[in-house]
Amino acid sequence: MTMHPSVVVLALALTTAAAQGAPAPCPGNADALGTARVLKVDAATTPRIGRKHFPTTLPLAAREVVLTFDDGPEPGPTGRVLDALRNECVKAAFFLLGRSAQAHPELARRELAEGHTVAHHSFAHPLLNRLPVAAAEAEIDRGMAAVDTALYGQARHAPATPFFRFPGFASSPALLERLARRGIVVFGADFWASDWNPMSGDQELRLVLERIELTRGGIVLFHDTKAQTAAMLPGFLRALKRRGYGVVHVVPAGP
Ligand SMILES: [Zn+2]
Repeated sequence: MTMHPSVVVLALALTTAAAQGAPAPCPGNADALGTARVLKVDAATTPRIGRKHFPTTLPLAAREVVLTFDDGPEPGPTGRVLDALRNECVKAAFFLLGRSAQAHPELARRELAEGHTVAHHSFAHPLLNRLPVAAAEAEIDRGMAAVDTALYGQARHAPATPFFRFPGFASSPALLERLARRGIVVFGADFWASDWNPMSGDQELRLVLERIELTRGGIVLFHDTKAQTAAMLPGFLRALKRRGYGVVHVVPAGP
């Protein structure tokens, strides 16, 4: 098969733009942070990532950040988080609870429609390392099926997005091994905002900016269920832009 020359030129131009980190224009915000690049994540090469709990993380450069949000969707804060991301043309990854996706499917579908990665965080947030392995795996599968049903109207045997984060990071060697065999990437985090602790949005912003300078970027964990996180996110994204950070959007490597 031969490609028409104009197709080759276009492909080269797109590759060059991506390599130079030139994000696509952002409607209504000429100074937007934007999404610097898309990173395909594959369980074959990176089955588990995030230095808080695992020895390895994603192949990110210094001053690259992956934005992740757990426990949603939640009416109120999740919408404000999505508004803030859209305003800066930034793509994130959401790790949903099956029960919340079931209760608020329109919010799950909005995340997908706005180009975010919609991934999995169990059905009801139990600490899975305290359950028998079969029961824990059934809980994981129930969550994935509920999220995919909210998104697509039906669930297949394998999740559409094979990314999972353990509630409370409570994994076990047996569960990690089973997920790796199924080609599901387990996400940890490289740093976080500790937004499960009550604090003001301003306090949370100061804390997470201190921490990002220590780690020089990486996978950051937030909770889109938290009002304080929704409140600080516009300021956080502005600070990333000022400080020269680039946002990396993680997507599944498969077809
Ligand atoms: Zn959680």
